Amino acid sequence: MAEVYKNFIDGEWVESSSGETYENRNPANWDEVIGIFQRSTKEDVNAAIEAAQRAYKKWRLVPAPKRAEIIFKAAQMIVERKEELAKDMTREMGKILPETRGDVQEAIDMSFFIAGEGRRLYGFTTPSELPLKFQMSIRIPMGVAAIITPWNFPMAIPSWKIIPALVAGNTVVFKPATDTPLSAYNFVKILEEAGVPKGVINFVTGSGGVVGEALISHPYVKIISFTGSSEVGKHIGSKGASLFKKVSLEMGGKNAQIVMDDANLELAVDGATWGGFGTTGQRCTATSRVIVHKKVYKQFLDMFVERAKALKVGNGLDPSTDVGPLINEAQMNKVLSYIEIGKQEGAKLLLGGFRLTGGDYDKGWFVAPTIFADVDPDMRIAQEEIFGPVVSVIPADSLEHAIEIANNSKYGLSSSIYTNDVKNAFIAIRDIYTGITYVNAPTIGAEVHLPFGGVNQTGNGHREGGHTVIDIFTEWKSVYIDFSSRLQRAQIDTDKIVKVEE
Ligand code: NAP
Ligand code: MG
Repeated sequence: MAEVYKNFIDGEWVESSSGETYENRNPANWDEVIGIFQRSTKEDVNAAIEAAQRAYKKWRLVPAPKRAEIIFKAAQMIVERKEELAKDMTREMGKILPETRGDVQEAIDMSFFIAGEGRRLYGFTTPSELPLKFQMSIRIPMGVAAIITPWNFPMAIPSWKIIPALVAGNTVVFKPATDTPLSAYNFVKILEEAGVPKGVINFVTGSGGVVGEALISHPYVKIISFTGSSEVGKHIGSKGASLFKKVSLEMGGKNAQIVMDDANLELAVDGATWGGFGTTGQRCTATSRVIVHKKVYKQFLDMFVERAKALKVGNGLDPSTDVGPLINEAQMNKVLSYIEIGKQEGAKLLLGGFRLTGGDYDKGWFVAPTIFADVDPDMRIAQEEIFGPVVSVIPADSLEHAIEIANNSKYGLSSSIYTNDVKNAFIAIRDIYTGITYVNAPTIGAEVHLPFGGVNQTGNGHREGGHTVIDIFTEWKSVYIDFSSRLQRAQIDTDKIVKVEE
């Protein structure tokens, strides 16, 4: 019998008031139940938010370096448990073990990096236009942070949000994706064991429609940090705006890799294969378009198909597997329907294009790595996020043409260019409109200490990762301290300097 996992509210592990639960199953083997989780209600969310609101009164006054000490400890605990955490994650959501180890490593890196902020959280000072006056701008915490995350990075993404929220002095209510509550539970459990005080981190599992909605509407919630689809992000953004909440959104992508005629084609194929089919294409930064200079188009395609054909699809715990399953049946059906759309639109299917069946495949949601060639940049498969192992290859006449195609997207997260000409590289860096550009590397592979996020419908102007994430989880307060012992009026008392000298 699978273990039953509870919500974490006000320092206690508790069942949902609904009395209902749901099963978390392995997408590589649907017979395997990973755990039973709470199907929570609005009442559960309200209890968690109230606990977080109460805990905030004390937590905000704990010195930031002390708050960070707990996070350093948690990071160390994740290091010690890395392998079991990665295995749980592979069983829960399918990606291969080297990738789930990477996901856990990202949570470690983020925790160490942001715990360091406990001794920074820099503000600034600046001179006054008036004499005998000091001024500075400091960061202040906000209150209760609502954290809503997707299933594709089940520990990394929660860590990008929860760790900076806590170090900055906020308290948290965390709703993980319905598909990946175990990795979220593991993360929260470690924070508890590391010593995060009661009520400071709360964890409520359940659906976006119930738990998510209750979170984004509650008056105590000051900041909503969301990663997921642009569709849900748009809804959360509008709702948050109507309630005057700060909302940070990280959403979809349709990332392009450009391959120039002077590129190292072996390297470019390595990049497209890893970027396109790593995590089964289920990364916000996945390479879903490869734009290839016409002079090397045919050669690149031959090499790319050859390489992708050799990928082994299967259970992510098997060391010989390159590509795991899709997260669930609905996502698999979505991917298969996009493959049909691609065919109908007239793109040339060069590889894959079907569900894998027979033997163990029948128990999971496996789709063969799929490559479309001769894709028109305006086709739906070149415009809409598929979030699966499907790559569209598009020919281009020149660098300018390739960049124009890359920028022809409603998204703008990541991009990449393969070239051995430094001029091409710098023009691409200048002209591609995305939040991230890689040179001679795939569209995936962000590091935690650089700002992460995108333009257009990928984001709403915030950047996670880097020092910029602190801007999401703090407000600025400007402080003016007048020690002149008289009323000084900024912008009006322009003759003050003279008076002081008298
Ligand atoms: P999703 O369907 O938008 O769900 C994301 C989260 O929002 C889940 O926890 C979901 O809960 C919750 N949610 C759904 N409806 C809600 C509502 N009405 N109110 C509040 N919360 C709600 O996205 P997904 O399918 O999990 O993840 C895939 C998407 O995430 C892709 O579009 C991908 O590009 C994007 N992504 C972006 C980044 C980035 O940093 N830019 C990173 C990773 C993924 P349930 O699980 O219960 O539905
Ligand atoms: Mg699952």
